[in-house]
Amino acid sequence: MEIFGYMEKYDYEQLVMCQDRESGLKAIIAIHDTTLGPALGGTRMWPYVTEQEAITDALRLARGMTYKAAAAGLDLGGGKAVIIGDPRRDKTEVLLRSYGRFVDTLKGRYITAEDVGTCQQDMDIIHRETKHVTGIAPANGGSGDPSPFTALGVLHGMKAAAREAFGTESLAGVRIALQGVGHVGYHLCHLLKEEGADLVITDIHTSVAEEAAVEFGAETVGPDEIYGVQCDIFAPCALGAVINDTTLPQLKTRIITGSANNVLAEERHGEELHRMGILYVPDYIINAGGLINVAEELLGYQQQRAVEKVTRIYDNTAEVMAIAKREGIPTYRAADRLAEERIQRAKRTGRAREGVSMVG
Ligand code: NAD
Repeated sequence: MEIFGYMEKYDYEQLVMCQDRESGLKAIIAIHDTTLGPALGGTRMWPYVTEQEAITDALRLARGMTYKAAAAGLDLGGGKAVIIGDPRRDKTEVLLRSYGRFVDTLKGRYITAEDVGTCQQDMDIIHRETKHVTGIAPANGGSGDPSPFTALGVLHGMKAAAREAFGTESLAGVRIALQGVGHVGYHLCHLLKEEGADLVITDIHTSVAEEAAVEFGAETVGPDEIYGVQCDIFAPCALGAVINDTTLPQLKTRIITGSANNVLAEERHGEELHRMGILYVPDYIINAGGLINVAEELLGYQQQRAVEKVTRIYDNTAEVMAIAKREGIPTYRAADRLAEERIQRAKRTGRAREGVSMVG
């Protein structure tokens, strides 16, 4: 890949390579767009086989964060970082502190948080070297685990989708097939049960699914059976790329929406859902609760304010569906349009205040 060519094609601002022989750190920080504000995005630690793979991942993920923050109405840009290494073997305090010092050199243009392979404790260590980090412990002024907020956002987005598809936002008696009872999925089961939904759940860890089934009075099915469950809403809360050529023909649902990132294997699968009349709420619209919550740390964390902002994912979902209807386009494209319009408006006015009415 020609890196400058790729950066130019998708309008990336900056790519930073960080190396420290003493700690063994090899990290890459990608900043996609800071029109709306500083670039916020997590740090992923992964044993990438090639440097190219690591760079591509950082760039791709950073661009995704620009869209997520813009669509959520946050005054934040998009960035992401990767540390090359095995988190179980290579993650040390020395390495994380060295990384924190590199983040600090960017003077707040990039703000980090946890991602795959990093956790709150890691952010607390990074926090010793830089203030440009979120997702730290409540004892350090942070917001802790984002998963309950992500789940809350998914619930509100689901209600907006239910209103569009079924004429009522009530989820009582609505049959929901939920894939992945992990951090987000578990909290979501709780919230959905409180709403009176009927749950069908699955997890690759059978015991996890079985325990949740007892707790929430849910049915369980095998991991491969979840796509074919006759339901009102299919909620992917595990992996990406679950809407693909193999799963599409199995679907018996009216709505698809859950916390998982990159749900569509390819954009053409979003076109196909549109053609099939299945309402898809784009992943980065509905799963922004965690981001909205950590962003609150930048203002001085107040949980109540965070909750209020997360519930506005309802309005955002409704707006995406309205754009899709008005323009006759699939919802995944409507979401991109919403994000791009917000960035373009901010570029025209020369200030990043566009999102204030949404969440500020
Ligand atoms: P997690 O690892 O805690 O949970 C994932 C669960 O899915 C696990 O229980 C796992 O056993 C199960 N699983 C994995 N593969 C499966 C399969 N093929 N079939 C059924 N179950 C399977 O992760 P999480 O933090 O709950 O995140 C879930 C998804 O939501 C991920 O895609 C993540 O990127 C996304 N997301 C999470 C947050 C957050 O706040 N945690 C925010 C935004 C997006």
